[in-house]
Amino acid sequence: MVVSPTDYGDFLKWLPNEQQVINFESETHRATTLIADADLIFCLDFNALKRINQMGELVRLSKAAKVMIDHHLEPESFASYTLHNTKTSSTCELIFDTITALGDAAMINKDIASCLYAGIMTDTASFKHGSTYPSTHRVAAALLEKGAEPNIIFENIYDNYSADRMRFIGYCLNEKLQILPEYHTALIVINAEELSRFNIITGDTEGLVNYGLAIKGVKFSVLIVDRTVLVKMSFRSKGDFPANEFARKYFNGGGHFNAAGGESNQHILTVEEQFKEALKAYKHLLA
Ligand code: 5GP
Repeated sequence: MVVSPTDYGDFLKWLPNEQQVINFESETHRATTLIADADLIFCLDFNALKRINQMGELVRLSKAAKVMIDHHLEPESFASYTLHNTKTSSTCELIFDTITALGDAAMINKDIASCLYAGIMTDTASFKHGSTYPSTHRVAAALLEKGAEPNIIFENIYDNYSADRMRFIGYCLNEKLQILPEYHTALIVINAEELSRFNIITGDTEGLVNYGLAIKGVKFSVLIVDRTVLVKMSFRSKGDFPANEFARKYFNGGGHFNAAGGESNQHILTVEEQFKEALKAYKHLLA
């Protein structure tokens, strides 16, 4: 069984067998029982239990053996077995390697190949991030040989926005985008009312932070979203600006050098102010 700590965007709902994924937030009781009763739990694409919210403590307390497969920096040591490599595109690439190393490559069918290819494609932003290694293309090629259809997967993910989501992006770019020229920084701050006005669900804000980075001269792009229980932040940078260090230092976060995230339980306007204040300490890297 697959349990996700939250819901996710519609753009993933075409994935084979997606209907069987349990959303912890809407099926808390069932997920809790499954976690408690499991003999083996694979922890995929996160390396600190707080990253899966309330599920983290349940996983920690479960008697199950835990296998962590992940590519983010600074793993916690909660798992019984760890397959961790930061020099890989994605957890999906590691999963392919694991299945192959176990001698089970023949079991990878079209459905599995499509899921793994989708994970690699989204984590590398369609093979354009620096984390796209020769091995990434080799694995992608192997997945195509197993039946994954890159054009269909691309279309399902990127040409599948709801009209609300597209209008929301337009609104954010037109009315919410701030450019802080002295810091070569782009900032979008979204409050809870705006999310509900455009019927935005978890996952729909994914990718929004990249638009700021696409602006000529911008080195650091930040998205601050009020998720009601928490304020979530996404950080993206170009070149030598350490987005993960910034996230860790000021917003209880982390991630990759050029793509990181953080969170805060302060009011969103306070977070915005704190962010602008924190930028001052990094002016030398952003000027
Ligand atoms: P995103 O901005 O897409 O949510 O996340 C970008 C990267 O930052 C991902 O690699 C993600 O795992 C990491 N990240 C996002 N939020 C947090 C956080 O609150 N804490 C930590 N440690 N990493 C985060």
